[in-house]
Amino acid sequence: MKKELVERLIGKDVKDISFWAKKFPKRPDGMIVTRFAPSPTGFLHIGAISTCQINEKLAHQSGGKILLRIEDTDTKREVEGTTSLIIEAFKKFNMFFDEGPISDTEETGEYGPYFQSQRKDIYLSGVKYLLEQDWAYPCFSTEEELDAIRKEQTVLKFRTGYYGKWAKYRNFPEEMVEKYLDEGRPYIIRFKSNGDWNNKRYFDDGIRGKVSMPENDIDIVILKSDGLPTYHFAHVIDDHFMGTTHVIRSDEWLASLPLHVQMFETIGFEAPKYVHLSPIQKLDDGNRRKLSKRKDPEANVEFYLQEGYPVEAVKEYLMNIANSDFEEFRKANPINAVEKFELKIDKLNNSGALLDFLKLDSVAKEYISTLSSSELYDKLLNWAKEYDTAFAEVMKNEEAYLKSILAIERDGVEKVRKDFYIYSKIKDEVSYFFKDKFSFDVKDFPVSLENARELVEAYKNLYVHEDVKENWFPKVKDLAEKLGYAKNPKELAKTPEAYKGTVADVACVIRILITGRAQSPDLYTVMQILGKEETLKRLNAKI
Ligand code: GLU
Repeated sequence: MKKELVERLIGKDVKDISFWAKKFPKRPDGMIVTRFAPSPTGFLHIGAISTCQINEKLAHQSGGKILLRIEDTDTKREVEGTTSLIIEAFKKFNMFFDEGPISDTEETGEYGPYFQSQRKDIYLSGVKYLLEQDWAYPCFSTEEELDAIRKEQTVLKFRTGYYGKWAKYRNFPEEMVEKYLDEGRPYIIRFKSNGDWNNKRYFDDGIRGKVSMPENDIDIVILKSDGLPTYHFAHVIDDHFMGTTHVIRSDEWLASLPLHVQMFETIGFEAPKYVHLSPIQKLDDGNRRKLSKRKDPEANVEFYLQEGYPVEAVKEYLMNIANSDFEEFRKANPINAVEKFELKIDKLNNSGALLDFLKLDSVAKEYISTLSSSELYDKLLNWAKEYDTAFAEVMKNEEAYLKSILAIERDGVEKVRKDFYIYSKIKDEVSYFFKDKFSFDVKDFPVSLENARELVEAYKNLYVHEDVKENWFPKVKDLAEKLGYAKNPKELAKTPEAYKGTVADVACVIRILITGRAQSPDLYTVMQILGKEETLKRLNAKI
């Protein structure tokens, strides 16, 4: 297309594409550059953490870079406030980018701006180049015309889209373009596809290998009437000038691969390597389905943060379900060594991984078991400051007390108790340490009320707060035997009529009286932390 006409279409001041090639220097040879490119259309999906983690790992394990790019060219779908929501969520997940936005107004890196809405002039240079080469053209089709085309194609059972005989303006004479412009008709710019739908071609995908798909023959819109590009075109320009070597994204884009590769080829840029990840799935009534942004609260990263899943555990779990060889690595390495895991693209899961909360909970338990009481205190406080401010206050006021509670069966022991898995449940788990939260229910006693009264009465007389740990259980045992309780269930089973229960039942009654529950961490330590006064008060409770 002649220069003057191009200028009429997109303006006089548009820079040549070579300007950007100079402005953004080529990345060092061999450097792996990946990116995560969310659209600010809603909350951050848990799958995004997984995708981003894969991008990050692939880049960083080879000394490369990962960048964040906000794809905000679809102003109709944009939801206000979500850019900062996304950026903040990544920070909470300890995911940091080498380049890109660090807030909704600031960014870092030499290849920006990293907000697509601020890259208009770069896209226009690309459009200018394509127009000049006749690989793009203005399209004057109105919404009504496009609707009519879609209807006709649907009736005829043809693929819908702007292609073939329906691409009315693809070879529109330049004089006619000028005439339409004189008349002030609105237009958008379309890519002029040279593909043939009947030709199949192989496209490379990092996980799936060679995928056979028809060439693209649709003249997609590259520049909309608002002067912003569409995702397809922006992605080509951005990933080229940002030096992306690997595009790792959701497999919803796999079908667009022929178009994307075609655009790279047409414009003369080297295409990046593509890797398409399958979405995370869930079991719904026994059937697998994609985790839905609309229906499933657990699709939202905020769900995990609010529940207080340690982000380290969530990331480890996601790495596990995304990679077929992670399990093996984990067996040979302690939890939390995920940085050492070397990700191989061809080992990435090629069918949707299933979100399994039992497994996630067990990873979380395992992770929390690696923390010392003071590390756990810090993480719990961090969580509480945001999600349970009343509890955060209690934690701050009673730091030493809280730490001693969290230290039970944790600090300095070989087998750490694995009872905590989410921060939001810890408050309940330790609530009996707080006088105003403590209560018990006689219905929970494993023996009759009469027997419970008898044994508690006897135990009270035996209890010596200053006893060493080694003494307390033998005392309970002796007492139990004296009062007619069997040593163990086996003995009880032999002559049930001879016993009131077992030693374990006796310990259980005392436990309920002290903690309000049938299961608790080591009771001796619990009583020591509660202190003599409180312990005696609880032992003396009226039952
Ligand atoms: N903005 C696109 C999305 O959110 C990004 C796809 C890509 O990674 O290229 O789906």
